[in-house]
Amino acid sequence: MRIDLHSHSSVSDGTDSPALLMGVAAAAGLDVVALTDHDTTAGWAAAEAARPAGLTVVPGMELSCRWFPRDSPPISVHLLAYLFDPQHPAFAAERVRLREERLNRGERIVAALAADGHPVAWERIVERSEGGVVGRPHIARALVEAGVVESVDHAFATLLHHRSPYYASKADTDVLDGIRLVRAAGGVPVFAHGLATKRGRVVGDDAVAAMTAAGLLGLEVDHPDHTPDQRAYLRALADGLGLIRTGSSDYHGTNKTTPIAACTTEPDQYEALLAAGTGVAVLAD
Ligand code: AMP
Ligand code: FE
Ligand code: FE
Ligand code: ZN
Repeated sequence: MRIDLHSHSSVSDGTDSPALLMGVAAAAGLDVVALTDHDTTAGWAAAEAARPAGLTVVPGMELSCRWFPRDSPPISVHLLAYLFDPQHPAFAAERVRLREERLNRGERIVAALAADGHPVAWERIVERSEGGVVGRPHIARALVEAGVVESVDHAFATLLHHRSPYYASKADTDVLDGIRLVRAAGGVPVFAHGLATKRGRVVGDDAVAAMTAAGLLGLEVDHPDHTPDQRAYLRALADGLGLIRTGSSDYHGTNKTTPIAACTTEPDQYEALLAAGTGVAVLAD
């Protein structure tokens, strides 16, 4: 069994439509793929409609969250959520709030860029974010098209870097609240790429302990942004806390160079995840 539990489609910041993503997953030899777009379930229906026979799809999402350390500024963390009830009112309302927050913040970044002589069309960016989930990758592509930067990577390394003067933050969900919402909706919360230092500051073991106390059920261990040492560390941490260990590619189509199935989840860990999720069923034959 080949299982990839983290992928993005064009309803958030991937480049493949949910339907195309199903074909890409099957062609890569995956038996199971999770669709985990940022802050939206908008791709679930199209993925279900296009799912090829033999491929199991785990409905999921990646929730934008923050951890609040006692004596330093908040740290951005991503929470994967699987098999939750998409209709759960409080959780659905929080996703709406996050998407509005993304629109406000994206518009602020674009306005700051334009004021400094790097104009990109905000309307086009919104138009192209099919599910209304605007992220820096959309702005990055617009900057490439406008000839301001040579690549999406270059945009992230310069104008859109979290330490760039053009960067604007957004009021993401307190991760402890996020975990409680996912559980309330019958879902399985998994801490995504927890030690990926290339993305910015990462949290300490105290945060993972607090998250576990709030109901966290898993850690993403094998991820392309983790070094072998970081994976070994997370594996031991998960085992010590009794958490599920996942592995995944975090595929984003051509917005990133990582191919689908670059990292995978062990079957027994996948079974444990399935057993814990009660909000919605997997899509399977
Ligand atoms: P945002 O959520 O709008 O702050 O944008 C962050 C998203 O950008 C992350 O979810 C990543 O998927 C994506 N990202 C981060 N670094 C890069 C990069 N170098 N190239 C393309 N996408 C990236
Ligand atoms: Fe992303
Ligand atoms: Fe992420
Ligand atoms: Zn992701």
